[in-house]
Amino acid sequence: MENDVLLKVEHLKKYYSIKTSSLKKATSYVKAVDDISFEVKVGETFGVVGESGCGKSTMGKSVIRLIEPTSGKIFLDGEDFTALKGKDLVKAREKIKLIFQDPYASLNPRMTVKDIIGEPIDISKKYPTKQQRDERIVEVMKQVGLNLDYMYRYPHEFSGGQRQRIGIARAIALQPKLIICDEPVSALDVSIQAKIINLLKQLQKDLGIAYIFISHDLSVVKHIADRVVVMYLGNVMEMADKKDLFKNPSHPYTQALLDAVPKISEERIDDKDVLSGDVPSPANPPKGCCFCTRCPKAMEICHSIKPELIEIEPGHQCACHLFTNQK
Ligand code: SF4
Repeated sequence: MENDVLLKVEHLKKYYSIKTSSLKKATSYVKAVDDISFEVKVGETFGVVGESGCGKSTMGKSVIRLIEPTSGKIFLDGEDFTALKGKDLVKAREKIKLIFQDPYASLNPRMTVKDIIGEPIDISKKYPTKQQRDERIVEVMKQVGLNLDYMYRYPHEFSGGQRQRIGIARAIALQPKLIICDEPVSALDVSIQAKIINLLKQLQKDLGIAYIFISHDLSVVKHIADRVVVMYLGNVMEMADKKDLFKNPSHPYTQALLDAVPKISEERIDDKDVLSGDVPSPANPPKGCCFCTRCPKAMEICHSIKPELIEIEPGHQCACHLFTNQK
């Protein structure tokens, strides 16, 4: 693995079987994540965008093995993360953490802030004495801007933004190299969103953490990401440096998403409502290109042959027949 590559994901798939009847065997699958490969470099932010149900959260949870991938390989810091079990998996998970969309649901309501942050520390035994544990808790509370007077309070006593700070404090307690942020600000007010984004950026600068930043909000991803992948129906449509992607969006789906951005921010409606046509069910995706039922540029070939993800410029990949030789 190249020196600056922290995470390498190869052909990741997550399929869910569907039973057509209780008497029959499973006959079909929902392909929530369908053969995705990418890399995340040390200290970078890798943005993941797409509409609700495109598989971006499933991808994030599969990478950390909160849900087990159906197939594929995940290499974390040079180690085959997919092959780890038991204590080795617990140890490797010190390097990769997850922040959830809903901080309240992800915090145990019966635990104080101190114990919530202390829980991963206790499991790891990285700070074995009580003094070391308590000092580490104080340190991370300061790093995320939490008042130390809050240490013995419970999650219900906090606002959404403060709860997300508690979640971030818990995530950084063991000095991870990578945090998967799954829609970390979408449940927060806009003014609070900016504060949490700035906190994440500051922590990245101070601690060198890499992020996989999952969001349906392109303006947030534009602000925080270094590189971006666009997902649709469990597939990668386009992947590029942020500047390239926003300046020169090449896939018709990316173009449609970007065209919808002003409407999203002005009208505060979900992006799925501003793109024409319904998203097909991942249980019954279109044959050929998965975007062909909504694509204004669809050609005959698009309805029968799935386009490969190909490099159209250095570091810029796109899965569309407009760029293949099969038009
Ligand atoms: Fe549109 Fe065809 Fe490209 Fe798919 S492959 S995005 S249907 S032009």
